[in-house]
Amino acid sequence: MCRVRRVWQFLILAVLAASGCGQKPAPVVDLASERQRMVQEQLMSRGIHEERVLAAMAKVPREEFVPKETRPASYTDQPLPIGYSQTISQPYVVAFMTEQLQLKRDARVLEIGTGSGYQAAILAELAAEVYTIEIIEPLAKNAEATLARLSYKNVHVKAGDGYKGWPESAPFDAVIVTCAPDHVPQPLVDQLKEGGRMIIPVGGLGEQELYLLEKKNGQLEKRTVLPVRFVPMTGEAAKRQ
Ligand code: SAH
Repeated sequence: MCRVRRVWQFLILAVLAASGCGQKPAPVVDLASERQRMVQEQLMSRGIHEERVLAAMAKVPREEFVPKETRPASYTDQPLPIGYSQTISQPYVVAFMTEQLQLKRDARVLEIGTGSGYQAAILAELAAEVYTIEIIEPLAKNAEATLARLSYKNVHVKAGDGYKGWPESAPFDAVIVTCAPDHVPQPLVDQLKEGGRMIIPVGGLGEQELYLLEKKNGQLEKRTVLPVRFVPMTGEAAKRQ
């Protein structure tokens, strides 16, 4: 009786082993190919055409900027959580905002809302110096560590309220804001160079409009370029609502 049971046990184990049950390897996601596919299917097909922007998006590994468990989803067409109720933006939005800035190689750029550091890395591929401010200190620390690990030496990360900008390093050729205030912060306008461009989502909690602002003869020229949804700008911006 006992022997019969042992034979059965052996047979069941043999069948399970043959089917690989319980040890199925996780499907291997080829993130490098997915990155190239993202560039084709999410960016080029939607009208992003600036060669340098496409090259930067094809180069920077988004998977390094998201939590480990989210890596397989790195190149999906959506924002992803990065902790502290914050998100890394959808690749298309990152590319679109970057393209709008028309960055020259010698440009100095200010970013408000470092988050994961991904947008800062894209900017660092295209400009000379990137200054980026994040209000949640652990996110700032984490982004700084990721950018250092990937050898970005031209990104300067600061923990603090970006509403006031970075006066010590101003003026900037371009300003990019990746959290939404309900008005354009005046210090950021003041720190924009003559001829410079600012891209900023403005509006309430639900939806905002992306403004492209250009400083011409000391005046701001405003264009509304895309409806978007960003996390709100906290700190001083929230107090002034
Ligand atoms: N650019 C980021 C995503 C931005 S998420 C990336 O590539 O991952 C928006 C970020 O703005 C959040 O991390 C949020 O904490 C930050 N933020 C909100 N208000 C801010 C403020 N007043 N100053 C600086 N950062 C702010």
